[in-house]
Parts: sequence; structure tokens; C-alpha cells
Amino acid sequence: MTETTARGHNAPCSNRDFDFFYAGFEGEELLVQRCTQCGTLRSLPSPGCGNCSSLDWEPTALGGEGEIFSYVTHYHPPLPGFSAPHPMALVTMDEGVRLLGAMDGTDPDTLEIGRRVKIEFVRRDAVAAYRFRYL
Ligand SMILES: [Zn+2]
Repeated sequence: MTETTARGHNAPCSNRDFDFFYAGFEGEELLVQRCTQCGTLRSLPSPGCGNCSSLDWEPTALGGEGEIFSYVTHYHPPLPGFSAPHPMALVTMDEGVRLLGAMDGTDPDTLEIGRRVKIEFVRRDAVAAYRFRYL
């Protein structure tokens, strides 16, 4: 269950599929699931492989770079712990999986499909997280 910290940032949900993903942020690793049967990467975490339906997987670290597939600038309603306008990007990582991430601190007017970005690990209060920054 997601909780809100004293300063307002959402704490991550906790379950057997997601815990490794958030634990990776503590060590500044971007981990995704890799199916041990067919090798397909998947993100966000899920119980089974969308390619072969296997329930077996292992965590795999991504390199942390990719390009903007799409983006949106959030204005309303307010998001806990973020100020508006709040740019967000859907990024195709170099390994092929897509991740949605905050781009707070980036001028929304500069967002552009295809622009190269990299992961930056941040702390939002007590919560280890990531956001995207331009390369
Ligand atoms: Zn598979």
C-alpha cells in the first residue's frame, strides 16, 4: 500500500514483484525483471512473462540511458511532493523496455521526443527514487 510521508512524497508500494525494483534504487541500480525461460525483459514488474507466461525471473540492471518516447507536463491536481508544472517522460531504455519517470528540474518547454536521457537517482524525503535528466 502506498503511504504519504510527512513531507508529502509517496512511499513505494511493497509486494513480492516490486520490492526488488525499489530496493535497487537504494544501491543506485535500475533493476528490471528478466525472464529466465526466454530472456525477455519486462517493466514495470509483473508476476509473469508476457512472452512465454513463465513465472520465473531474475533481476537485471539496466545501463540507465535511453530516449524519450513520449512526455506529458502535469499541472493539476497537485502531486504529493512535486511542484507544478511537473514534466514526466516515458523513456525507451537502450535495452528496449520503457519506463515512466519524473523529469522535475527540467524546463517542460524543452521536452522533445527522441531526446537522449539518463537515470539520476534521487531521494525524495526518505524514499529512494529516480528521475530522468538530459544526457
Ligand atoms: Zn519468458
